[in-house]
Amino acid sequence: MALQRPKGTQDHLPDGSPKLRLDVSARAFRHVTDTAAQVLERAGAAFIETPMFEEAELVKRGVGGSTDIVRKEMFMVYYFGDHGGYVLRPEGTAGLVRAYLENGLKQLPAPFKLWTHGPMFRAERQQRGRLRQFHQVDYEVLGSADPLVDAEAIWLMVQVVQALGLKGVQVKLGSIGDPEDRETYNAYLRELFGAHTERLSDDSRDRLERNPMRILDSKSPEDQALIAELSVKPMLDFLGAEAEAHFTAVRSYLDAWKVAYEVDPSIVRGLDYYRRTAWELHHAHIGAKSALGGGGRYDGLAKELGGSDTPGIGWAFGVERILIAMEEEGLSLPAAPQPQLYVAALDAEHVPLAAQVALGLRAAGLWADFGYKPQKPGNAFREGERRGASQVALIGSDEAAAGTVALKNMASGEQSSVPVSELAGLLGRQDAPDHGALSSRS
Ligand code: AMP
Repeated sequence: MALQRPKGTQDHLPDGSPKLRLDVSARAFRHVTDTAAQVLERAGAAFIETPMFEEAELVKRGVGGSTDIVRKEMFMVYYFGDHGGYVLRPEGTAGLVRAYLENGLKQLPAPFKLWTHGPMFRAERQQRGRLRQFHQVDYEVLGSADPLVDAEAIWLMVQVVQALGLKGVQVKLGSIGDPEDRETYNAYLRELFGAHTERLSDDSRDRLERNPMRILDSKSPEDQALIAELSVKPMLDFLGAEAEAHFTAVRSYLDAWKVAYEVDPSIVRGLDYYRRTAWELHHAHIGAKSALGGGGRYDGLAKELGGSDTPGIGWAFGVERILIAMEEEGLSLPAAPQPQLYVAALDAEHVPLAAQVALGLRAAGLWADFGYKPQKPGNAFREGERRGASQVALIGSDEAAAGTVALKNMASGEQSSVPVSELAGLLGRQDAPDHGALSSRS
């Protein structure tokens, strides 16, 4: 049997592939990242890229030792050097904050906005929308604790998904308070769940010691049943005065900008370094348990990574889940750009000339394809049409002798004889190919 790709990974396929779906379309991935670039860079975010593997210690400190990601889902990188402790990055924030600190970006004016996109790795059980290699778009702002930065981050996340045409998205907003507030809350949870340890899942018994808040995040049905039965008070009831004021400020900005959101007291976020503002982006078709994306403030992270105290906030969404949501909403991609010209030779002798004409046009900045074998005019027109070319040029002995091509405009059917030296000018004057607008199939 032929070798196959690893479980939990996907190939991103070109247009025309027999197995093409929106969530495995290479062009769809690029459309999402191009759209994110447009929205985020207009807001002053700078693009950054960091390595796909990092020291395990960075991920452990950044993501939190008590999280499932660190405890169960890390991909070790076996490395024959003097240091073996590397893992494939499971998320982007820890690496970005490390890069910010390590490269002196702190000297630049704050708040400093960064964005990136790329593959992330978690050894999860594969399901639709849950992969071992998935892709995120990631936005982070370092150097400000201002609630205005939080509100702008949420606004930008919503702008990106709206620019992609998604309608059924919902922001669920919460606050997980300051560390002292969380301590009080954890003490409350320890006491509450401590009386029912026998009903907790093994993982949650462990969480009871390490980080009881994470029990609320548990996917286990037995934990969820117990949570419902105990009517656990939400973290929001435990906010201190400062965290409360911050939360109110974020909400008032969002209200003023008419960003729809719902306060969700159950938002806990899986990662240890989050503080205050936390939110998730949901979609009706993705299911309540899996978000399109999430974000939050992480003022404690830079210090945790050994840097100086630097407040930060950021969000990430999963590109695959965005594409699944787009597919569910019946959204399609903008039309693919198409060649301006297809050049065909009428006999074998003139194939090199056809190629040369196409290459010359490409060098002049046009998109020209050519045929590798001679074709009769009817076949050449059909081939040009199949490729979506706006014009087809034929070269036979007469054209070669005269230094011309026989040009057919595929839209009007008009045919003319055009000197090769005038082709670039003629094609260049015509409207650039229509990339089309995002349209709904419904
Ligand atoms: P997280 O870093 O866990 O908050 O995840 C942020 C977003 O990344 C999620 O909302 C998903 O859209 C996406 N994501 C996380 N894990 C996976 C996965 N295993 N497969 C696909 N997408 C994922």
